Amino acid sequence: MIPAQMNYVRAESVEEAVSLLQESNGEGTILAGGHSLLPLIKFRITEPETLIDISRIPNLSGARIEDDRLIIGALTTHYDVSTNKLVKEHIPALAKSASVIGDLQIRNRGTIGGNIAHGDPVADYPAIALALNAELAIQNEDGVEATPIDGFVLGPLITMIPENGIVTEVSFEIPPTHTKQTYLKFFHPATAYPVVGVAAVAGVNDAGEIDYVRVGVTGVSDVAYRALEVEEALANKQPTEELIKAAAQLATEDGDMGEDLFASEEYRDHLTKVYVERALKEILLG
Ligand SMILES: Cc1cc2nc3c(=O)[nH]c(=O)nc-3n(C[C@H](O)[C@H](O)[C@H](O)COP(=O)(O)OP(=O)(O)OC[C@H]3O[C@@H](n4cnc5c(N)ncnc54)[C@H](O)[C@@H]3O)c2cc1C
Repeated sequence: MIPAQMNYVRAESVEEAVSLLQESNGEGTILAGGHSLLPLIKFRITEPETLIDISRIPNLSGARIEDDRLIIGALTTHYDVSTNKLVKEHIPALAKSASVIGDLQIRNRGTIGGNIAHGDPVADYPAIALALNAELAIQNEDGVEATPIDGFVLGPLITMIPENGIVTEVSFEIPPTHTKQTYLKFFHPATAYPVVGVAAVAGVNDAGEIDYVRVGVTGVSDVAYRALEVEEALANKQPTEELIKAAAQLATEDGDMGEDLFASEEYRDHLTKVYVERALKEILLG
């Protein structure tokens, strides 16, 4: 479809983008990579009066480490997240999540900030973001605020971004060095979005007990979630096939399985348990 007429402005700084948003009185929309927004505009699901392009604002890309957290600029593309040396070294499951998003064109243009800000229940990043207590730095006219990812998405495409807010960075907890991590995704055959995506990070101490375990699940529920019941079932136990299988049966306790034309609630429930079990076996027994 042909989009409705709109104005286009390119912001040179975050401050300028914030003031353009203020001036637009709620009629302006931020444009980053455009790979989620432009399809909505083409279908006229959203009709912004003004597009405020932030894609060329300097210093909003790349990764750095500060106080045991890995911080990634909001405009870092999925391709750059997947190939960044720091990301691959410290949070390989994040690099893997980025590497399986869409196709090459999408990974070359789409951004981590745009992906998370969009609040799409079938996005890949939220699984690892929840597992590693990600925080978003969000800037508006009142300053910069750190917002935890847990609770940031309220429902499909509904987030806690405040008025005139722009996500400038996403930071992740760096897990202890003895842990292993993975991201497993069951691809939707038509769209390549995850039907289910599971991020798992876990480690075993010298006594052979699981002393760190985090599991995030995306794709199957209206809002991605952390599988706390699974984590509890594994904590301080020796990892065995039986234990992991039993724990994985709790993988949907913290979510609310959705249903659509492609997958029934029962199917999503089953798939989530299978993928959580596989992910945990890979990192704890593999
Ligand atoms: C065919 C196709 C397949 C895809 N497959 C996948 C997939 O498998 N997995 C997956 O996770 N995603 C997938 N995507 C989505 C893709 O990852 C997008 O790039 C991403 O969701 C949005 O990032 P963007 O930079 O393109 O944001 P945009 O499309 O520019 O913006 C998305 C929304 O976020 C807002 N926004 C953007 N940046 C910011 C910011 N910094 N601060 C505040 N608000 C902001 C915009 O106003 C808009 O509402 C796919 C997209 C397409 C078209």
